[in-house]
Amino acid sequence: MDFTLTDEHRALQQMARDFAEKEIRPISAERDLIPDPRATFDWEIIKKGSDLGLRTLAVPERLGGPGVDRLGQVLVILELARVDGAISKTFSQNWKFTPFLTELANDEQRERFLTPFLENDTFMLASAGTEPDAGSDNRMPPDDPKAGYRTSAVRDGDDWIINGMKHFIANGGVASLYFTLARTDFSVPVNRGTTMLMVPSDTPGFSIGRTHNKIGWRFYQNAELIYENCCVPDANRLLEINEGRGNKRMGIASFNDEELSANALGIAQAAFEHALEHARNRVQGGKPIIEHQAIALKLADMYMRLEAGRSYLFKVVASEKERGSDFETASKQLLKSFATEVVQSVTKNAVEIFGGMGVMRDAPVEKLMRDASIFTHLANDSVQNLKAARKLGQ
Ligand SMILES: Cc1cc2nc3c(=O)[nH]c(=O)nc-3n(C[C@H](O)[C@H](O)[C@H](O)COP(=O)(O)OP(=O)(O)OC[C@H]3O[C@@H](n4cnc5c(N)ncnc54)[C@H](O)[C@@H]3O)c2cc1C
Repeated sequence: MDFTLTDEHRALQQMARDFAEKEIRPISAERDLIPDPRATFDWEIIKKGSDLGLRTLAVPERLGGPGVDRLGQVLVILELARVDGAISKTFSQNWKFTPFLTELANDEQRERFLTPFLENDTFMLASAGTEPDAGSDNRMPPDDPKAGYRTSAVRDGDDWIINGMKHFIANGGVASLYFTLARTDFSVPVNRGTTMLMVPSDTPGFSIGRTHNKIGWRFYQNAELIYENCCVPDANRLLEINEGRGNKRMGIASFNDEELSANALGIAQAAFEHALEHARNRVQGGKPIIEHQAIALKLADMYMRLEAGRSYLFKVVASEKERGSDFETASKQLLKSFATEVVQSVTKNAVEIFGGMGVMRDAPVEKLMRDASIFTHLANDSVQNLKAARKLGQ
C-alpha cells in the first residue's frame, strides 16, 4: 500500500501549517472563551481560508476547484486541527458534502449551487438529518417505519412543502445550502421513504432556531433548523424520490470516518507537543519532570497511540483509493472509534502532565480535552461499533 506524499501533498501540508500558525493560532483561544455560542464564529478566518482554497478543497479540477484528493484533505485537517479542531471542522464540513454538488447534482443544479459555492467566500454547506426524536435511528434504522426522521416533505405540483425540525446541525446558521433529509413515505422504513432536498438558507419558511452551546469545538456552529411550510421546487431534489437514504451513490460522501479521525489526531498531536514542552521545562524534585519515570512513560504512551492512529488513518485512506469510496469496511468504520480513544487518552494525559495548570483556562491543554470529549458523541458510540461488528459477522 502506497503512503508516499507527492510534492503537491507536501506543499499543501506546508500551506495548511502556515495558515494555521499565522491566522488561526492568534484567534483560537480567544474565540473558544466567548460565552455566546453564536459569537464564537468569525467570518474573517473563513474568508482568508477560502481565499487559499480551503473551503472548496474537494471540488475537482474539471469543475473549477482545487481538486485535492482524500490524502491531501486528511493532511490539511491534521495541520488545521493541530491548532484548532473546531475551525478545521468548519472548513472540512464543506468537503464532506461537496460530492453531492459535484457528483449527484445535474448541470442545472450545479449552475445554481456549485457556481456560487465556488465564487462566494462565505457560501458553506450543511447536511440536516438529526431531529430531537430521531438520532441513532437514522444511522442504524430499525425496520419499524415509525423510527427515523419525522420531518416531512409533501409534493405540491412542482414543489415540495417541508415541515419539521432538525437539531445539532453543523454549520447551522452559517451555511447557505442545507441538504435536508425529509420523509416522503411514512409507511416504509426510513431508508426507503426519505428524499433529499436542497434548501437554500433564504427559502421562505426556513429559519434557524437555537445555536447549541457546546463544551468543546466552540467555534464550530451547531444549530436547530425549523421548516414551516418551507417550499422548494422539485428541481432542488437530489437522487430519486424516497432514495435520499439507502442509495449506493450516497457513498461518495463517506469521508466522515477519515475526516473526524484526522481532526481527532490533529488535536492529539497538539496535546502531545504541549505536554512534551511542559515536561522538558517544568522542574520539580530537582529535575525536569520528563526525567521522572511516571511522566516519561505517559509521554511514551501518548506518542505510541498517536503513531498507531496516524498509521491506521493513512492505511484506510490508501485502501479506499484502491477500492473506491463506497466500499465500507469494518476497518474504516472502526477508525473513528480508535481515533476517539487516542485523542481522549492523549489529552487526558496532557492535562495530567500540566499538574494544577492543566485545568486552568489560560493553559493550552484544557481546551484540547474539551474538544476531544465531543468525539464520543459523533464517532465513538455503540451504534458505530455495532455497525462494524455486523459487518464482521456477515
Ligand atoms: C458536534 C455535533 C455535530 C453534529 N452534526 C450533525 C450534522 O451536521 N447533521 C446531522 O444530521 N446530525 C449531526 N449531529 C447529530 C449526531 O449525528 C447525533 O447526535 C447522533 O446520531 C446520535 O443521535 P442522538 O444524539 O439522538 O443520540 P441517541 O440516538 O439518543 O443515542 C443515545 C445513546 O444510545 C445509543 N444508542 C442509540 N440507539 C442504539 C442502538 N440501536 N443500539 C445501541 N446503542 C444505541 C447511542 O450510541 C448513544 O450512546 C451532530 C452531533 C454533534 C454532537
